[in-house]
Amino acid sequence: MIDIRAYFDDIGIDWIDRGKNVSKGAVEINCPFCGLDPSKHLGVWGDYKYGGFHCWVCGEKGSLLKLVMKIEGVGFEKAKKILDSFRKGDFVDDEIEKEKEKPVIRRKLYVDMKEIDIENVPVIVDRFFSLRRFGYSVIKKYNLYYSRSKKKLIIPIYDWKEKLLGYQTRDLTRRADIPYYNYFFDGVKRLYGMNYYDGGGKVILVEGVLDVWRMGDNVLSLLGKTLSHLEMLELLEAKVEKVGVLLDSDVGEEKEKLINMLAGVFEVEVLELKEGDPADLDEDEVKEIRENFFNKILF
Ligand SMILES: [Zn+2]
Repeated sequence: MIDIRAYFDDIGIDWIDRGKNVSKGAVEINCPFCGLDPSKHLGVWGDYKYGGFHCWVCGEKGSLLKLVMKIEGVGFEKAKKILDSFRKGDFVDDEIEKEKEKPVIRRKLYVDMKEIDIENVPVIVDRFFSLRRFGYSVIKKYNLYYSRSKKKLIIPIYDWKEKLLGYQTRDLTRRADIPYYNYFFDGVKRLYGMNYYDGGGKVILVEGVLDVWRMGDNVLSLLGKTLSHLEMLELLEAKVEKVGVLLDSDVGEEKEKLINMLAGVFEVEVLELKEGDPADLDEDEVKEIRENFFNKILF
C-alpha cells in the first residue's frame, strides 16, 4: 500500500477523497495528462505494488509509476524510489509493472463505427445505459463505439497486453432476434476484461460483458458459460492463482463443468447469486462481493 495522500501533500498537490464524483476508496486530483479539466477527475489508489490511476476525462490510466514520472518529470527508477518511500504495510515486492498503452483500434467492423463522445451521446445509446443503470464513465473506460447505421453498440475485446482481439456488438433497438454477437478476428473466443486485470493473481469469472462493467476490474467475462483451454492458458500466463466464479442464478450443469475444469489448476471460490445476473447488483452488493473476494476496496 502506498500512502498517496502523504505523497501528494509532500509535493503540494491538492487532492480530495470525498464528494459526489469521487470513486469509493480513491483519491482524486487534477489530471496532469489532459491538464484542461480543473475538477479533479483523475482517480488514484494506492493498493497493490504500485497502485493505479484513471482519468475519467481523457481516459489515461496506468500504475502510479507512470503518474509520478509525469508529475515530477523523472525516470522509472526514480519514480520507484519516490513511491517506495511512501510505502506502508505490505507489498515490498518490486516486480516491474508493465505500462499500458492506450489501446488503438486498427480494424473497424462497420464503416461508420465511431467512438462515442460522452459530451454528445446518441439518444438510443443513452437509453441503453440509463435502462441498465450505467453511467457514461463506462463508455470512456471500456472504449465503446457506436454505429449509427446499424444501431449497434460496439464493445472492443482486448487481451492482457491491450491487443484488440475482436468485438461484441449489441443491438440498441430492442427489436433484434439475437441481441448480441461476438466477433473474434481469428474466430476463437477469448475472455473479456483482461486489459483491466492488474496482475494481482485473483480474478472473478462472470458470464457477460455488462457483468464486468458492473463488477469492475479483475472481473472477466466468459462471453457465455464455458471456458476453453486457450482461455485457461491465458489465465495461467497472467499468473492467476485464485478464481471466483459468479454466474447468473439460472445456470445449471455448465457451472459444474466450469468449476471442475478450473479446480484442477486454480484455487476456486464459488460465489452465489440468489437471483438475476451480476449486472443487476447494486453498488453495495458489488462492494461486499469484491471486499470478500479481493480483501480490498478498488473503487
Ligand atoms: Zn486526463
